[in-house]
Amino acid sequence: MHSARPAVFLDRDGTLIEEAGYLDRIERLVFFPYSVDAVRLLNRAGLAVVMVTNQAGVARGIFQEDFVAEAYRHVTARLEAGGARIDGFYYCPHHPEASVERYRIACDCRKPQPGMLRRAASELGLDLARSFVIGDRWHDLQAGQALGVRGILVRTGYGQTEDASPKRDVTPAAVVDNLIAASSWILRAS
Ligand SMILES: [Mg+2]
Ligand SMILES: [Zn+2]
Repeated sequence: MHSARPAVFLDRDGTLIEEAGYLDRIERLVFFPYSVDAVRLLNRAGLAVVMVTNQAGVARGIFQEDFVAEAYRHVTARLEAGGARIDGFYYCPHHPEASVERYRIACDCRKPQPGMLRRAASELGLDLARSFVIGDRWHDLQAGQALGVRGILVRTGYGQTEDASPKRDVTPAAVVDNLIAASSWILRAS
């Protein structure tokens, strides 16, 4: 019998790639120089790497779900070329005030809600108590905290601004400069 694996839930924008407002063209998708190395380190340590991202641009009609999938293919190709991989991908296309009606719901997957993490844990067989979430927004960490997942805030993307305005109900396990620092931190901690 396989025991459940620990995972790293990885935010996309501002964490794995540069924050670009609503990323709506592949030409605007820019990796941080250390991102491939950071993911490969986690792969080699036996952690499942699961990308979880709010994509309200879909709800707002800025781009379609097709584009979210295209961006994901681009990300995975780039990672694979560097010997790194993502084990699961979840995104939330919803928003309570969506201009596109079919996405206008108060869902349970939009971070800070923990729905994407919960679904990944059940579909991929993950051990949440030994898992981590890495993100540049407090809401990334809140999604994990609700399930007992330790959170690491990175100071890229919105991270510096977020770090300057702590939230009373969010306790990060660590605040670090960027994704490679977060990966190193996790390897020491797990
Ligand atoms: Mg982000
Ligand atoms: Zn959702």
